Amino acid sequence: PAAGEVILDVKDARKQFGGLVAVNDVSFSVKAGEVVGLIGPNGAGKSTTFNLVTGVLPITSGAVDYRGRSIAGLSSRQIASRGIARTFQHVRLVPGMSVLENAAMGAYLRSDRAAQGGALASILRLNRKEEDKILLEAKRQLERVGLGDMLYRPAGSLALGQQRILEIARALCCDPALLLLDEPAAGLRYKEKQALSELLRKLRAEGMAVLLVEHDMDFVMQLTDHIVVMEFGTKIAEGTPAQIQVHPAVLEAYLGG
Ligand code: ADP
Ligand code: MG
Repeated sequence: PAAGEVILDVKDARKQFGGLVAVNDVSFSVKAGEVVGLIGPNGAGKSTTFNLVTGVLPITSGAVDYRGRSIAGLSSRQIASRGIARTFQHVRLVPGMSVLENAAMGAYLRSDRAAQGGALASILRLNRKEEDKILLEAKRQLERVGLGDMLYRPAGSLALGQQRILEIARALCCDPALLLLDEPAAGLRYKEKQALSELLRKLRAEGMAVLLVEHDMDFVMQLTDHIVVMEFGTKIAEGTPAQIQVHPAVLEAYLGG
């Protein structure tokens, strides 16, 4: 994508669970080459917003456009294959499988076969040539994130910071234009956070659009270009890190009450 292209456009997105409005007509966008932070207290609606973008939950009203086309109503598999990749709040790797095999799982999802059936079915149906192609792509992405010298180690033997980076490599195997990260810095040591931040800066420089939910304010403030703040389902503020740090409604949400 060209720098500045609007990759994700969320317009008046609403999600109700019965009488509870978890996401209340929220709008924001993410451009290519931009890291956007989505922050707010527990229960604010951040994860639900992620779930609307990734098709895990159907939207009640409003619109979600990816690269100018509506993705509302598509399945999470279809959305992933269009180029939206995500990581989860808790690490989801197969600890006994190698780093390379874990990363390759991401590439299976993007393969033509996966569009026709389940991921497992598509793995079983792969021929040798397709498998080689997928392993090559996984290797390329692992080198891109700096894990190229750990291909054959069990994923479970990696430090938590490296496991998080492995999850990003797996997400990159889908060749995404948008990366959604749910609390990528949680539980990491200072050095690991720095390595993660460095990787995300590199991806941003390459034109990736990144949306992240994160509680670590230092991490958010030093990395993001733009921040969206939610409370009780509503967007209460948005702006640059410098603007958000002195925004009265944000200070009230975090310190007041
Ligand atoms: P956050 O990620 O910001 O902590 P969530 O998006 O998880 O917030 O939750 C927003 C609100 O929606 C909360 O009140 C939560 O209890 C509610 N909620 C989330 N998922 C569901 C669900 N599947 N069914 C009913 N209520 C839900
Ligand atoms: Mg959450």
